[in-house]
Amino acid sequence: MKIFDTLQRRKIDFKPIEEGKVTMYVCGPTVYNLIHIGNARPMIVFDTFRRYLEYKGYDVKYVSNFTDVDDKIIKAANEEGVDSSVISERYIAECQKDMQALNVEPATVHPQATKEIDGMINMIQTLIDKGHAYAAEDGTVYFSVASDPGYGKLSHKDMDEMMSGLRDLKVSGEEQKRNPNDFVLWKPKKEGEPSWPSPWCDGRPGWHIECSVMSQKYLGDTIDIHAGGEDLIFPHHENEIAQSECATGKPFCNYWMHNGFLKINNEKMSKSLGNFFTVRDITAQYDPMVLRLFILSAQYRTPLNFSKELMDQIKASYERILNCTDKLSALIKAKEGAGEAQMSEAELKSKETVEGYIRDFESAMEDDNNTANAETAVFEIVRVANATADENSNLAYVEYLLNTIKKLCDGVLGVISERKKEVLDAEIEELIAKRQAARKAKDFAAADAIRDQLLSMGIVLEDTREGVKWKRA
Ligand code: AMP
Ligand code: ZN
Repeated sequence: MKIFDTLQRRKIDFKPIEEGKVTMYVCGPTVYNLIHIGNARPMIVFDTFRRYLEYKGYDVKYVSNFTDVDDKIIKAANEEGVDSSVISERYIAECQKDMQALNVEPATVHPQATKEIDGMINMIQTLIDKGHAYAAEDGTVYFSVASDPGYGKLSHKDMDEMMSGLRDLKVSGEEQKRNPNDFVLWKPKKEGEPSWPSPWCDGRPGWHIECSVMSQKYLGDTIDIHAGGEDLIFPHHENEIAQSECATGKPFCNYWMHNGFLKINNEKMSKSLGNFFTVRDITAQYDPMVLRLFILSAQYRTPLNFSKELMDQIKASYERILNCTDKLSALIKAKEGAGEAQMSEAELKSKETVEGYIRDFESAMEDDNNTANAETAVFEIVRVANATADENSNLAYVEYLLNTIKKLCDGVLGVISERKKEVLDAEIEELIAKRQAARKAKDFAAADAIRDQLLSMGIVLEDTREGVKWKRA
């Protein structure tokens, strides 16, 4: 298996630190509003890679954080007049709903920055003790880039060049920096901001330190794979390497994977440019699996341009998968008990063709997570299934086809190949009645759980004066 490593700038053979096990850290979102479909790209592409590693039999420990203390969260909290934890908890819950809709497996651990402050203070203290960081007069702690000879190795930046470019660039408030490239590990509190006590001042951590600390705590000093969007290469990941390697004296990570941008009209989709669609916007118009297939339709390092035309094409392709599994399931149902256990000669031959596509699928995934080619192989299998399975087929053959599609499409690509069952009105009414009973009994947790269950079935509730109304999303 080959992975393109950003640090070495080439594809290299993948060899985990411990045989049969993989440790993987993926930088997660800053939670201050709903995630957009660009944020969903790293979630989906690295979830798929994780699923492939699991398909190959690796035991994968997968950590993905939520950044829940940050300027943007504080700003949103102040605008609403609430504590910043109200904002972050709300959007963590919303993000988890989106991930569930997109069939992204929960991480082994989803740590949150605000719950790991002690670990951050410890690592910052270690960096100060080892001469890699210093506290300025106002209590701000900076990492000293000049103390780290390896600084710049991930982003391939030349330090001398960076220094000369920045020599005159002292941003206001940063006069205390010894070097303009030094970055913040800890900063003093300001009015209206969350803060924690520390040996330097009451304050809060800088952004980069959380990932160094959580990665070490949950996965160890050196991990196999660290991933995120390419905008994180510099400064975020460069700074993570500096902090971790200076603190532990060991290599931080063996493979760096970075996804390219999801674009719109050839511009990066981003909150600051305002040119984004949230996952919610898109899943109101398309099945979330169409969005997942769309994201995986390009190799993860290449830019991917979003368009409705492309989404419509992919919707049609997804429909082909669903029609195929509908047909295979119906054939199996009709043949149960009556079908032949053995495959015919012609079926054995088709099976060989399918086995070839399975090999293509695996080679694609092993060539730096090439989900575009892996999708193509699944569509080929669907084509063979449509062309060869009918009421004369043997049960064993039809079952083989359905199992293969489930294994690759659902299991690895994470694209659910089974058509959602139509939810009956009676079923909905029954759940609504149960929710009303729970509310009457003041069991609001149970009532909310039923509301979420209905939401996952595509049913939206509205509490009105005349009672509960519902509609299909
Ligand atoms: P943020 O909440 O901005 O820290 O982003 C969370 C993750 O989404 C990071 O890994 C980013 O690199 C990634 N990301 C943000 N915008 C895009 C985009 N337009 N395309 C692909 N990845 C993105
Ligand atoms: Zn990170």
